Amino acid sequence: MTVAAALTKNQSLVLDTLAASQTPLSAYAILDALRPEGLRAPLQVYRALEKLQERGLVHRIESLNAFVACGHPHCQETEMIAFAICERCGTVDEFAEEKVVEGLSLWAERHAFTIQKAAIEIRGICSDCSRPAA
Ligand SMILES: [Zn+2]
Ligand SMILES: [Zn+2]
Repeated sequence: MTVAAALTKNQSLVLDTLAASQTPLSAYAILDALRPEGLRAPLQVYRALEKLQERGLVHRIESLNAFVACGHPHCQETEMIAFAICERCGTVDEFAEEKVVEGLSLWAERHAFTIQKAAIEIRGICSDCSRPAA
């Protein structure tokens, strides 16, 4: 992977930790996970997270104050992403639904509003959790 090759050691450690997690992680949870790798300071994690976010490889879920690895291959191309957050198991499903993007673009056009960045956070129950227990 050419993208991963250009990452610093700390950045790849942080990205791998997030990619391996089923749920979003706070900066402190990431730090805890990486202590065995020699990371000690929160700043090391924050710096890596900042760079990874700039590259669109990691997203911050504002409402949870936690981070996820990007789950969408074309993320860098779109300014609008949405996260479906399960209230029960905590999994986050990232998606960029064209209809949503279209709708938002239309609204912005009508209101002469320039969207720079949009992240929609939807709370609910995922399909796994809403399935009746067997
Ligand atoms: Zn993404
Ligand atoms: Zn769930």
